[in-house]
Amino acid sequence: MVSSSLICWVLVLIYTSTFLNSNIAYGLTPSSTNDLDCSSCNFFESTSGSCSSFVGETSDDREHVHDQYTTQGKNKSNSVYSCPSSSLLPETTSILSMAKDPAMVNWIKSIRRRIHEYPELAYEEFETSRLIRAELDRIGVRYRFPLAKTGIRASIGTGNPPFVAVRADMDALPIQESVEWQHKSKVAGKMHACGHDAHVAMLLGAAKILKARENHLKGTVILIFQPAEEAGNGAKRMIEDGALENVEAIFAAHVSTELPTSVIGSRSGPLLAGCGFFRAVITGKEGHAANPHHSVDAISAASAAVISLQNLVAREANPMDSQVVSVASFNGGDNLNVIPESAVLGGTFRAFSNTSFYRLRKRIEEVIKGQARVYKCLAEVDFFEGESFYPPTVNDDVMNEHVRNVAVGMLGSKNFRVVPPMMGAEDFSFYSQVIPAAFFFIGVMSEQLGSIHSGHSPYFMIDEEALPIGAAMHAEIAERYLSERYR
Ligand SMILES: [Zn+2]
Ligand SMILES: [Zn+2]
Repeated sequence: MVSSSLICWVLVLIYTSTFLNSNIAYGLTPSSTNDLDCSSCNFFESTSGSCSSFVGETSDDREHVHDQYTTQGKNKSNSVYSCPSSSLLPETTSILSMAKDPAMVNWIKSIRRRIHEYPELAYEEFETSRLIRAELDRIGVRYRFPLAKTGIRASIGTGNPPFVAVRADMDALPIQESVEWQHKSKVAGKMHACGHDAHVAMLLGAAKILKARENHLKGTVILIFQPAEEAGNGAKRMIEDGALENVEAIFAAHVSTELPTSVIGSRSGPLLAGCGFFRAVITGKEGHAANPHHSVDAISAASAAVISLQNLVAREANPMDSQVVSVASFNGGDNLNVIPESAVLGGTFRAFSNTSFYRLRKRIEEVIKGQARVYKCLAEVDFFEGESFYPPTVNDDVMNEHVRNVAVGMLGSKNFRVVPPMMGAEDFSFYSQVIPAAFFFIGVMSEQLGSIHSGHSPYFMIDEEALPIGAAMHAEIAERYLSERYR
């Protein structure tokens, strides 16, 4: 107890002096000691409360605000807090310079490292979610919780339209980390091997920046922290739970070891493929292999189905529209003398447009069931639509242009690249099916550092220098969207 209190006071002194120095650096002069209590006007670490001026987006939000926030609000309700208005930030204090402030950089890195050490799989992101909510409380940002079990919808701004959203995913992968470093995963068999720890850290960085600039916002920024991107269709459940309520556009970033550190990559139109899986059980009638006429042969039906499935891309798809259907599993009986009662086949399919993706899904079912009928068998096809079924990620032209403009304006044209479409998939696509959306990559590749292994590799690592750039991109995309409002 004694030592922790001591540490607390040391931190308060450090933060207070940092804040005072930062105010001088940014041209802010606290008018009273009360100013120091207002964490929402201060983008440095603080344990104090938030601006009482914030108007929640709905009464529902107010009910779900964390206890700590509510208590702080009550404690302060009788006092008049004159927050140093973020509108007093000089124009030269750009979002990028706020993100690159050493205190901010250290804070964002520390969050990423804490999450990296304790990875959690889909719908088990309890501690990650708790960490995010604790930081939002400290910054003074309101939120709804839970959505989709562990998800969070936070709000910054006027509480009124327009609403624009930025999303981060929180889940890790069932992979044993092979990277030896100080903050290696402490959970055996689990690892943030896709960089979702970095996504959360960047979005929290953006939250801190946007809260400090709340008076600049011409509407409301919604920050979406979602579970289960890797498996379980987390985005779909977030939408069902109201994550996109009132939201008219959404953006998200993914780290990429294909791009050098802090280079932004994107493209208009289809960016990531839709990805689906199928498993078919074809049922006939078992019989002795020496008397095939007494059986109904599921093996023959399944074999014909495999051949016919190959024609879906070869004969029915536009050659200019990349698509894939691959049968990757085929199992029948295990007795060389017996025609089995059933055969099971399965595989994956991919496409870059919703039309082609759903056409493939429909035709796979038709072909398998049709071929089964030809051979007097029955077939059932499962597409795992509740678990792993991702439509294509298609970037809206106008939203993608917005990302490009922000990236070029902030980082220069040499740090923006148009990237080719990729066969990987993302459940961000569920958002992009509902409202205009843009998904972009942020480079984390450094040969010097060794961050050259792709996502889902046990050797995956990132160059953390990209984290503040990602935070700044998120913040500026949201703030400028509200100012420029395309629709
Ligand atoms: Zn992944
Ligand atoms: Zn990912």
